[in-house]
Amino acid sequence: MKPLFSIISLGIALSTAAFSADERPNIVFIFTDDHAPHAIGAYDGWLKSVNPTPNIDKLASEGMLFVNSFCTNSICGPSRAVIQTGKHSHKNGFMNNGNTFDWNQQTFPKLLQKAGYQTAIYGKSHLKGKPQGYDSWAVLPGQGLYYNPDMITEDGQITIEGYCTDIVTDMAVEFLKEKRDANKPFMLMVQHKAPHRNWMPALRHLNLYDDIEIPEPATLFDEYLDNAPPARHQELEIDRHMHINYDLFLDLTPDFADLPIRTDKSAWRNLQRMTPEQVKAWRAAYAPKDKAFHEAKLTGKDLVRWKYQRYAKNYLRSVKGVDESVETLVNTLEELDLDDNTIVIYSSDQGFYIGDHGWYDKRWMYEESLKMPFIVKWPGVTNPGSRTTKMVQNLDYASTFLDIAGAAIPSDLQGVSLVPLLKGENPDDWRKSIYYHYYEYPSVHMVPRHNGIRTTRYKLMHFYEFDEWEFYDLKSDPDEYINLYGNPEYQGLIKRMKKQLDDLEAKYEDDSDMSEKPQSWQDEVRPMAAK
Ligand code: CA
Repeated sequence: MKPLFSIISLGIALSTAAFSADERPNIVFIFTDDHAPHAIGAYDGWLKSVNPTPNIDKLASEGMLFVNSFCTNSICGPSRAVIQTGKHSHKNGFMNNGNTFDWNQQTFPKLLQKAGYQTAIYGKSHLKGKPQGYDSWAVLPGQGLYYNPDMITEDGQITIEGYCTDIVTDMAVEFLKEKRDANKPFMLMVQHKAPHRNWMPALRHLNLYDDIEIPEPATLFDEYLDNAPPARHQELEIDRHMHINYDLFLDLTPDFADLPIRTDKSAWRNLQRMTPEQVKAWRAAYAPKDKAFHEAKLTGKDLVRWKYQRYAKNYLRSVKGVDESVETLVNTLEELDLDDNTIVIYSSDQGFYIGDHGWYDKRWMYEESLKMPFIVKWPGVTNPGSRTTKMVQNLDYASTFLDIAGAAIPSDLQGVSLVPLLKGENPDDWRKSIYYHYYEYPSVHMVPRHNGIRTTRYKLMHFYEFDEWEFYDLKSDPDEYINLYGNPEYQGLIKRMKKQLDDLEAKYEDDSDMSEKPQSWQDEVRPMAAK
């Protein structure tokens, strides 16, 4: 009898060991597009009074919020490529949205698969091509649509009726409930299109915030008097560049109730794909607002203020859908009893201008678009309601995920694991500065290529094709109104920071062409965007 007993004991021991091995935490990575930290209540920005994100705020109250969280290159596709690879844009090859991601290269989901994780991604990939490194996936083609979007699946392209944020949430819930391999930990990426341009809210949110005025940013009427010339030559102003039809889907006819839908602009193209019921609800919500606009005959600053309100409300309505998605995902984890061993992360690919400096969009190394939200709830590890001011970047996510999984971190990754910070440790040798490099120029919105360094207090930016510099003291000037580059008092500090910038370029092996362009090129490009 004894040998048999031993065999049974051994069997129990083995299954216990296998069970223990699979106790590594699951990861739910909720990632949105263009959601600025200052449009999250927990980040204490000037939009906090609107209470835009109660569920993301709850996540922060149960986990850790990263105050100094930054992207390396403030644009959609490149930010995602940095996350996939743990490498700066010049290393992963996806430097601007016109590039195509090389899925054959090393990515963290592939490494997690090798380490025994089940991996899945649903929603916006924005990296083109067929995703690699995922056991289950469905992605939007390109930017994707808010309503009745096409989705590329493992079985080909399909069209799904509904609102994109809800569809992606449903796919993630289906994964958790039906596709999950109970023998493996999982890493699930839930990547929403919202709140990306052209900001189209869910039908249930079309009248949200109708009865309030969204606060205006202090910098709404910034005239860029002290900036280097690029800030005056951009094309992302609410005043001059935000299109009242394309961006705000205002019907241009004053009495339009029975007229056919306009089809010449983006949001209206999506309206063409909507069901009659969806269109009816959409027009019922916007017709009174549009009528009031036409009757008001606004001009000048009053028109800018109206555009800002329309934009900010639609942006925050789109955010509301995302916040509800967070609630659904968290509730699903609880329902499935997975919450205790699942890390939930909220992040977005970069920050965004919500009227700050009179702008929309991103791209700049200025604060509003440089910052990324990063909130991590790791039950039993992160202190509830904790905050860290350590400087982190999307560059660090891949190393962090691999560290969480107990997998080896390849030496060619350029980020560092955030696990020590998540555990509440305070490493003395943590980075004192971050490196930034934006490449997409000349292109939409006309933000010149620039790179730079930001410390906890200072920021140095170089628009190298024009050899123009900016320098800010973020402590005394958080809105970056006063460019100190030419100020004699700061020349020693600026010289030292230029050296540090050189050191960061060398550290990250950034061998991009950063030469000043010939004057003839500068003369040709600059007038295209001149004010
Ligand atoms: Ca984006």
